[in-house]
Amino acid sequence: LSYSADEVFSRIQHEGIKFIDLQFTGLTGRFHHTTISANTFTPEQMRDGLPKLDGSSIVGFTSIDDSDLVLKPDPNTFAVIPWYTANKTARLLCDVYWGEDRGRLSRDPRGLAQRAEEYVKSSGFDYSAWGPEVEFFVFDKIHWDVLTPYKGQSYSIESEEAPWSQSGSGYPMGLQEGYYPSTPSDTLTPFRNECVNILSENFGILCDNHHHEVATAGQCEIDIRYDYLTNSADATQSYKFVIRNVAKKYGKVATMMPKPISMDSGSGMHTNVSLWKDKKNIFFDEEAEMELSQVGRYFCGGILEHSRALCAISNPTTNSYHRLVPGYEAPVYIAWSGSNRSAIVRIPRHFKGVGYARLKRLEFRAPDPSSNPYLVFASVLAAGLDGITKKSDPGDQVQEDIFKMTRSERAKRGIGVLPANLGEALDELESDKEFLAPVFPDDVIDRLIELGRRDQREIAIRPHPHEFYLYFDV
Ligand code: GLN
Ligand code: MG
Ligand code: MG
Ligand code: MG
Repeated sequence: LSYSADEVFSRIQHEGIKFIDLQFTGLTGRFHHTTISANTFTPEQMRDGLPKLDGSSIVGFTSIDDSDLVLKPDPNTFAVIPWYTANKTARLLCDVYWGEDRGRLSRDPRGLAQRAEEYVKSSGFDYSAWGPEVEFFVFDKIHWDVLTPYKGQSYSIESEEAPWSQSGSGYPMGLQEGYYPSTPSDTLTPFRNECVNILSENFGILCDNHHHEVATAGQCEIDIRYDYLTNSADATQSYKFVIRNVAKKYGKVATMMPKPISMDSGSGMHTNVSLWKDKKNIFFDEEAEMELSQVGRYFCGGILEHSRALCAISNPTTNSYHRLVPGYEAPVYIAWSGSNRSAIVRIPRHFKGVGYARLKRLEFRAPDPSSNPYLVFASVLAAGLDGITKKSDPGDQVQEDIFKMTRSERAKRGIGVLPANLGEALDELESDKEFLAPVFPDDVIDRLIELGRRDQREIAIRPHPHEFYLYFDV
């Protein structure tokens, strides 16, 4: 869906819309809004923006001594928010500018995504297409209470039954047994159906597929159709917004935290990408291995080469690194492959036939949903384009289960390992940020590192509950 400013004002009038939520995303990916009255909203404000924002109170934005920011609504993103029934409310996503005509805020994530799209064009391509597979957990209150004492506790996989088996189904399920169970074991089908309806009918975001995921305690995946870079990041933010709010309506709570439960699967945000020129997907080459063109191989090479630094952006929380461990279908080793889910880049294959060329893509499996999608897509793109420029061929794909290889087998085949924690990832980003320069200004990278270090330190200085189990009696 996309609207002109005129169409937005006519919908506001004809549909009796009372309020407009001005929405935008902070540097770390948190979604924000401020609400304006529709009857005071003018076409000039739509064009020039509204001086509505104190940038010092949004994480990562500005300092307190220079904090006046302007929200400039993007009419294309108009959507009616269906759960405000008493007062009809629509939303507009906004670009963030400095006040007094001082231009775009360099730390506006949406601006970085737009810069990335320019970078694709100046590199000689038309556009890139992005399809994230967001996974997330849905807990209910009882569930959450049950869970809290177990968080971080040693719960043995050998026990007969997890204390938190799929909530309310009446059918016990063990850890990592949540993949595709039919109803009534899967209790979240109506919830996901409702999310899909709202996303398509209100937000124009099409979902082709949804299901219960591997983790037992209410882990879901809803897949959205691929789109241009900024659109797709916008859609990801709208998606999280819808999911959280629909979960609330069901008396539940949805979380994008990558690894809320020890010893069960974490949530990923596998990121599918393709590159297009002259209406053709240039990652496709019928003659090539896995139908992946040489350009696609270089793009993949760039991602592998910079993957350790990328993690600081695609896996930006201390919790992210509890997911990136062997045994849970999350990637750990730096390799690429056709169908091997232990590699960080996978090349999905399709039956020959209609749409076969269009669907050729790389699936980068490291990102998780605690990340900021604008920054993830922009940085992955920068890594891939760097690979194309430097002709970084990724070498042979790895077909074997890398989790089963010994350290020396991995070394022999040149398979590296992802950072073990946020601190390591930030070190990598600090020493490997050149490739990001065409899209990310230095001050953005510096700020991301500073924010990451803060979290890392907060965790490092605190004893973990599980340490009491391990060490209290030493
Ligand atoms: N949850 C897994 C991850 O963390 C992916 C599992 C899957 O998609 N089958 O990436
Ligand atoms: Mg999937
Ligand atoms: Mg999945
Ligand atoms: Mg996937």
